[in-house]
Amino acid sequence: TKAVVYNDAHDVSIEEIDDPELTSPNDAILEVTQTAICGSDLHMYEGRAGAEPGMAFGHEIMGEISEVGDGVEQLSPGDRVVLPFNVACGYCRNCEDGHYGYCENVESETPGGAYGYVKMGSYQGGQAERVRVPYADHNALKIPDDPANGTPEDFIMLADVFPTGWHGVELADLQPGESVAVFGAGPVGLMAAYSAHLRGASEIYVVDRVKSRLELADEHCNATTINFEKRDAVEAITDAHGGGVDKGVDAVGYQAIEDGRDGESIYDESRENPSIILNQLIDAVRPTGKIGIVGLYVSDDPDQPDHIGEQGLLRVYLGTAFEKGLRFGMGQCPVKRYNRRLRDMIVAGEAEPGFVISHTASLDEAPEMYERFDEREEGVTKVLLEP
Ligand code: NAD
Ligand code: ZN
Ligand code: ZN
Repeated sequence: TKAVVYNDAHDVSIEEIDDPELTSPNDAILEVTQTAICGSDLHMYEGRAGAEPGMAFGHEIMGEISEVGDGVEQLSPGDRVVLPFNVACGYCRNCEDGHYGYCENVESETPGGAYGYVKMGSYQGGQAERVRVPYADHNALKIPDDPANGTPEDFIMLADVFPTGWHGVELADLQPGESVAVFGAGPVGLMAAYSAHLRGASEIYVVDRVKSRLELADEHCNATTINFEKRDAVEAITDAHGGGVDKGVDAVGYQAIEDGRDGESIYDESRENPSIILNQLIDAVRPTGKIGIVGLYVSDDPDQPDHIGEQGLLRVYLGTAFEKGLRFGMGQCPVKRYNRRLRDMIVAGEAEPGFVISHTASLDEAPEMYERFDEREEGVTKVLLEP
């Protein structure tokens, strides 16, 4: 099987790896037709997540079932399916409670499993021609053969970023008619803003500095966009909403580029302040508001100016948050909790999340596309690979 394989920081290549095999009666084998590159892959790509050379990347996977184990009952060869990025059993304590990001039956170092992700189990990545699907009945979501609406670009979004954006606003408990600020207009932030739009938010503020991404937020999410290099984001939000917005979503995480909080842009590639998004949200959300954190706060890179480590050590304005009575939710998205409903919205013509896909490429073009996505190059929002 050809796969996108990690060699070293900023270095992936297409290599032949072992063909996946059925290892349990619950497994299926998937012929991958579409797989996307994620902001989460970049943590490993940039060499600060401890990925081992030889490891195959990819957790956003869609394709056709080619083989099923004896214990698989719901799937047959030929079925078109999309996989949640989480690998989960469906029957442990956490899965039963709907916390599919924290399955207790996956062999991983950190709680929960995923395809092609360090510490989240040794599951082969799906940026490949073929991949094994553990607990296949639970993990595969069928895509109708002839859907009334929806393109592969829409359906691949169900693997991660659409449910994750949805989860961000769910953690923030966004209600119809409420206002929300979304920090980050990467694929996840765009999907959070889009989810807020679908859920009837009255006002949506989206903060980033990549113009093409902000344009998508304006065009598809009816958002008011804020370029943090041009204007203090918190000030822009609180100017519009005296007491602050009702809800907030952090779709950036520790990789935040420092903003111009003192009025002038102090952006400098070498200066990153990992705590800043959380603190900006604490300032921008009104007292009693809620904040959903889906951006990642783990970094293994000791060379980072603000090394936050595996425990995510941060300087957070907890006193301000306490005084305002804010509430927080965070963590891996339990994709399975949302993907069926979101799929049905796509089929019904109520959601078209595929607008974030800016590029479609072959597997062979993956190294170049990784580089361009990693640069957050204007116009490169999300890359779809078609093995
Ligand atoms: P991404 O990393 O490209 O998105 C981040 C965006 O934040 C970029 O557009 C960047 O320009 C912007 N940004 C940087 N500094 C900023 C600042 N100071 N203010 C506002 N915006 C700023 O790609 P992504 O795929 O959208 O991923 C975003 C985060 O979500 C990553 O940390 C990723 O690992 C995480 N993620 C989490 C889950 C989950 O289940 N919780 C799932 C998928 C991705
Ligand atoms: Zn992803
Ligand atoms: Zn489980």
